[in-house]
Amino acid sequence: MRQAGNVVHQVLSRLGEMVAPGVTTGELDAEAERLTRDLGADALFKGVPGRGGPFPGTICISINEQVVHGLPSERVIRDGDIVSVDYGCRLDGYCGDAAMTFVAGEVSRDVRRLVSVTKRVLQIAVESATVGGRWSAVAREMQKYTESEGFSVVREFVGHGIGREMHEDPKVPNFVSRDLLNRDILLEEGLVIAVEPMVAMGRPDVRIEDDGWTVVTKDGKPSAHFEHTLAVTADGVRILTDGS
Ligand code: MG
Repeated sequence: MRQAGNVVHQVLSRLGEMVAPGVTTGELDAEAERLTRDLGADALFKGVPGRGGPFPGTICISINEQVVHGLPSERVIRDGDIVSVDYGCRLDGYCGDAAMTFVAGEVSRDVRRLVSVTKRVLQIAVESATVGGRWSAVAREMQKYTESEGFSVVREFVGHGIGREMHEDPKVPNFVSRDLLNRDILLEEGLVIAVEPMVAMGRPDVRIEDDGWTVVTKDGKPSAHFEHTLAVTADGVRILTDGS
């Protein structure tokens, strides 16, 4: 799974270098597709069935008020956009999944803070996850920090178990709910999860656009997304998608 994670890291790093005003989301998608092939992996998102038909891209690319599941297109990235890229692949039968939000050109101070806080929320998850611990304790820290910064945690979409398939049990929320407390996740050795905080600058409510895929904030305010695949091992919780 670390090898799949390394491919994910390489692809996201490359796309991060490319994100700039004037580049289209479709150009980023084409580069991800090419690199996936060159690295001998299979892209996971393309063809996933959904209300909007099979997902058409190698990456999900979501700009500004788009939260997740945005479609690559002819859309040109503009100065001041934040660009969330989510990518997953399978290599030798095992999956990796990660996401990053990149900044194009000059963005406002508030938006820059949204991106850095969301990145930090994922770091907090990594730092507070312990072998033998409970996920609710981690989710509580993620939620607490997000809300202390004046932002909100998107609730409709959450992380997930990952292994031979991209989406496996359990669902891994970025907030605490009665449901989570009733069915808490034990972080036992061997568990691998994709942790993916989605943080909204305004209200947490989202809706799906007419394309059947793109998730946007209802209030139109920006949102950011970071994700890593994490493995619970005898030596501690390890990030599989950071290229280490
Ligand atoms: Mg994921």
